Amino acid sequence: MGRELDALDLVDGKRLSIVAGPDGMAAVPEVQAPDGSWWRAHPGDGVAEALLTMLAAAPETSTTGSFTVRAWAAHSVAGERAIAVDQTNESVIVGEAAVVKWATHLLQGPHPAPHRIEVLRANGFRSMPTPWGLITWRPGDGPETLVVNVDGYLPGAVDGWTWAVELIAEAARLPAPRTAAVVAAATDVGTMVAELHSALSITAATASQADADRWCAAAFATLDQAQALSSSETADLLRERRDEIERTLGGLGALAGGPVIEGHGDLHVGQVLQHAGGYVVTDFDGNPVLPAAERVLPIPAVLDVAGLAQSLTHAAIVARRHHEVDDRSLSAVEQAARQAFLKSYAGRLTELGHAGLYDAAPLRAFRLQQVLREIVYAARHLPRWMYVPDAALPMLLDERTIGAP
Ligand code: ADP
Ligand code: MG
Repeated sequence: MGRELDALDLVDGKRLSIVAGPDGMAAVPEVQAPDGSWWRAHPGDGVAEALLTMLAAAPETSTTGSFTVRAWAAHSVAGERAIAVDQTNESVIVGEAAVVKWATHLLQGPHPAPHRIEVLRANGFRSMPTPWGLITWRPGDGPETLVVNVDGYLPGAVDGWTWAVELIAEAARLPAPRTAAVVAAATDVGTMVAELHSALSITAATASQADADRWCAAAFATLDQAQALSSSETADLLRERRDEIERTLGGLGALAGGPVIEGHGDLHVGQVLQHAGGYVVTDFDGNPVLPAAERVLPIPAVLDVAGLAQSLTHAAIVARRHHEVDDRSLSAVEQAARQAFLKSYAGRLTELGHAGLYDAAPLRAFRLQQVLREIVYAARHLPRWMYVPDAALPMLLDERTIGAP
């Protein structure tokens, strides 16, 4: 294993270690062998259990060396198993009650999650897995980052790349679309995102010209990268429609003076889990494509709204690839879902007295930026995803904008 940088003892023979390896830093569970040497632990070795026992006994905030422990709702539970899905980090389910996520892909700080989760807890936001606690670590005099996160476990939870894709596919199976279920889901999610933003409204600030210039420059840089990395057909489309695309993205430069909040920052259907009790939002790690210092910055609420709305289109494109659907029906379903989400979001935000947080004008620009980012992401990391932005780009460019933005 890599070079040991720091460690937090949990109980005798079990610890959380920060190690530096060839792929960056990692927070890993370790167990001690009888000869005193430390080994990487795996589900079943009891290190996640030991962590929960430590959290259950800890005060709400405590500091040990470079580690800060926040403990909110933890209790001791036993029995460890690995989470069954593909994921970036390593999560362990303990006692079918908690998910302990070790940051095996440690992000350089500052990390957006601790403050957002704290604000959401303090403001009574319920539509997220119950936060049990978290541990942050500060390297030398560098910025603090998240090393372990513990949430209540939601049995049977699936993310929107499953639930939204299935609902959309089912609604668009026949030439006559049956939108009721997908519209109901999109409405619930719109309500939830409005409640999320309302709970975060305490962080509201005003965008500066420097913020607006940065958003605009980032969108143009993404456009250039997408142009360079996309398939020839998409590259042609980007070239032919360049003026119009630049006009749309250029609108981001006019957002100075508008409201910003410490929003989710990486909102899409994959971050929305469906479980027996409804929908919850997860993963407050911020946008992975941004440099660390920018990931923590406040954003316009519409950026989250655009991310979720555009991901409904992407879910429809995935549905078309993997299910029997009627194409015209699919298009009607996709629009109905997106409109229902936007309407319920705006309606609930107004009901909660926070309409002033949301300016829908840049919705199209941020949706377009999302498509461009996915082109870049697919080209660099996930070529088999490219069919999604390839299909989404012409859909978005040719969408009628009369009436709704
Ligand atoms: P990563 O950062 O490693 O991708 P996530 O936090 O996004 O990890 O979680 C990956 C998956 O684990 C989710 O898509 C979901 O299926 C499952 N998951 C995450 N948190 C919970 C939870 N509290 N209860 C049940 N399943 C969860
Ligand atoms: Mg994730």
